[in-house]
Amino acid sequence: MPETVDVLVVGAGQAGLGTAYRLQRLGVRDLLMVDAGEVGQSWLDRWDSLQLFTPRRFSQLPGLRFPSGPTPTPSREEIAGYLRDYARRWGLPVREQTPVRRLTRDGDGFCAETPGGEVRARQVVVASGAFRHPYVPAAARDLAVPQLHSADYRSPDDVPPGRVLVVGGGNSAAQLAVELSASHDVTVASAREPRYLPERALGVSLFDWLLVSGVLNADRDRPLARRIRARGDAVVGRDLDRLRRQGAVRVLPQRVVSAAGDRVGLSDGSTELVASVLWCTGFAPDTGWVDVPGALDDDGAPRHHRGASPVPGLHWMGLPWQTRVNSGLVDGVDRDARRTAARVHRALSAVPGRQGRWLPPVTWTRPSSPSRSPR
Ligand SMILES: Cc1cc2nc3c(=O)[nH]c(=O)nc-3n(C[C@H](O)[C@H](O)[C@H](O)COP(=O)(O)OP(=O)(O)OC[C@H]3O[C@@H](n4cnc5c(N)ncnc54)[C@H](O)[C@@H]3O)c2cc1C
Repeated sequence: MPETVDVLVVGAGQAGLGTAYRLQRLGVRDLLMVDAGEVGQSWLDRWDSLQLFTPRRFSQLPGLRFPSGPTPTPSREEIAGYLRDYARRWGLPVREQTPVRRLTRDGDGFCAETPGGEVRARQVVVASGAFRHPYVPAAARDLAVPQLHSADYRSPDDVPPGRVLVVGGGNSAAQLAVELSASHDVTVASAREPRYLPERALGVSLFDWLLVSGVLNADRDRPLARRIRARGDAVVGRDLDRLRRQGAVRVLPQRVVSAAGDRVGLSDGSTELVASVLWCTGFAPDTGWVDVPGALDDDGAPRHHRGASPVPGLHWMGLPWQTRVNSGLVDGVDRDARRTAARVHRALSAVPGRQGRWLPPVTWTRPSSPSRSPR
């Protein structure tokens, strides 16, 4: 007999956990979360020295304060540990090592195929991460030197000695170019001149400025948000710019347009001789397992309006720009999670004969430790 639940959340990263927390608060009890790996795993799968660019206070979910630590921003181990603590603290029903291999329509609901059997659910929240499929430009095919995507990079030992071209203009490219500059001859090719933002200004953290100025939470449809999106990711911190000015790293505001052997062609017509290439060129979500008519567009990207799929009962969480500037960041999860949880709750409450199954919203006992976040 397949297992049946009211709500299945696929993915137990920050987006899945934050949604499950809000669902529980609305009194939704028949809830299952499944994750292909372990809670926090996606952070541990990133490079060894990864340091979040968001300060601790902006790296937390509602209901649990991020612990203080020796650095202003958390390491990948700290955020993974925090997410594990979060799942435990709120008793979120996570089943680890349970990948959904295929999600299909099943009557009014859905059927998720997992190695342990089928799970049927009335409502499904897909929170499986927007940064899963490494993207590399087509030119990569024509390279004859070692190349790596940032998703597979762990430490400078992974990059052969000599001249490395780091391709990308976001925070990953900046962090890795700085790290590699201690041991390699580094050139950065970024489609446009990177925009550097200081970590602090006038003694106040950048993220506090972004919060009070309304930038961080700006709705995606506001002109301000549209302008920010059009300008592309900014780099938090000035380390790369400092190295560039010292001549320790070259930064070329050029797009990679071609490659041949050990030469990479740039958009200004010049070529760069390289010993290796590190692609920091972004990701796409992995939606290959979603086999639900109408759920994806022709490119396999989620079809949605602010996280709501046109397929009734299907919801997306954790998509960059889902509703706001910070939808893809830890800090942005809660606003979207409240909205998604409310939509799921409404849909369940509307099912005839199911109203009395819902427990009233839970009255939470405040944990006694001081670690509860003020939000
Ligand atoms: C290099 C890098 C640095 C970043 N730094 C920051 C930062 O400093 N601050 C910040 O706020 N944000 C940062 N982000 C953005 C974002 O916060 C992270 O990507 C974060 O991991 C997204 O959380 P998520 O829950 O949406 O997805 P994920 O963390 O990817 O979690 C998704 C989960 O879904 C599971 N899953 C996937 N497919 C399936 C399936 N078919 N069945 C079951 N489970 C499945 C995975 O195992 C995974 O555990 C960064 C992103 C990257 C790539």
